[in-house]
Amino acid sequence: MRGSALPVKVGQFVSCILFQSLALCTALSFCVPTALQARQIQVDGQPYMDLAIVGKSFGMQTYWLKGYKTFRLRSQWTTIDFGKNRRVLELNELPIYLGFPTVESNGQLFLAAADYKQVLQPILTPQVFRSRPAIQRVVVDAGHGGKDSGARNEAYGLMEKNLTLDVSLRLKGLLERAGFEVVMTRDSDVYLSLQQRAQMANRAQADLFVSLHFNAAGSSTASGLESFALTPQYQASSKYPRPTTRDSKRYPGNDYDPWNALITYHVERALVQGLGGPDRGMKRARWAVLKDLNCPGVLTELGFVSHANTAKKLRSPAFRQEIAQSLFEGIAAYRKRLQRIQ
Ligand SMILES: [Zn+2]
Repeated sequence: MRGSALPVKVGQFVSCILFQSLALCTALSFCVPTALQARQIQVDGQPYMDLAIVGKSFGMQTYWLKGYKTFRLRSQWTTIDFGKNRRVLELNELPIYLGFPTVESNGQLFLAAADYKQVLQPILTPQVFRSRPAIQRVVVDAGHGGKDSGARNEAYGLMEKNLTLDVSLRLKGLLERAGFEVVMTRDSDVYLSLQQRAQMANRAQADLFVSLHFNAAGSSTASGLESFALTPQYQASSKYPRPTTRDSKRYPGNDYDPWNALITYHVERALVQGLGGPDRGMKRARWAVLKDLNCPGVLTELGFVSHANTAKKLRSPAFRQEIAQSLFEGIAAYRKRLQRIQ
């Protein structure tokens, strides 16, 4: 297990002992520079870090925008905006859901140390994490199938299970042309349980698992793209306000937390760049297909079949190819990033 063999410095222990987990605490004290720990405060038993210091540690400028509602970290290529008491940040305008809300204290804005470790470090400095995963064999999971049709739009003759399979097959072609090895959880209209899908990825010794889905909503105006990474231990998934005791369970997929965040960020970014949004952001959930993976994974929602304009476009093979192309770009960007941190 990552972290368990790392040396522990007693002095660094104090500020994070409330994390309840030796593994997480050890990993945190290893990853968080001592200068940053010096500027921590405790909020509800959580260590929080001064964002001005955090920004400087990444070599970024830090300042409040006019009106003191938004705190910005900025470098040449990256702008990260944090609101007060908000559980989402915008990284180059891409919304990323946090585990905990930011906290203002004495005119400074603070970020939960858990979010520093689970969001900022994986995306900005993934090289600080050990055991960089391989990126050769990709398991492509077409959501639903067989008796489970998923979301439907009768008026446009759309079924999620057909859309996910169509886009998955297009994605497979693109990945193989770029030198990836691809394993499909299904390549026809068959039913698979969620557990079977994760088991297939583990049996195939996948380096990456990508699950494709489409959304539906009661409101016909809901639209856009969103991508999910497995929720880290001790955190509430994005749709829940705060953690409960249930959230203290750790899943096999949590061994890949930094890489789950990195692939999800790249997939969501590429989808929005390729398809134009709306960008519903990078979110967290404990989807059954992600929990038991022995590799990094992402579940992406590629549009709302319940949205008339989207439904119309989804009937076009050219548009479905664009979706596959954008997804491919995200996976290729993740591969490039991993290769850079060899
Ligand atoms: Zn689905």
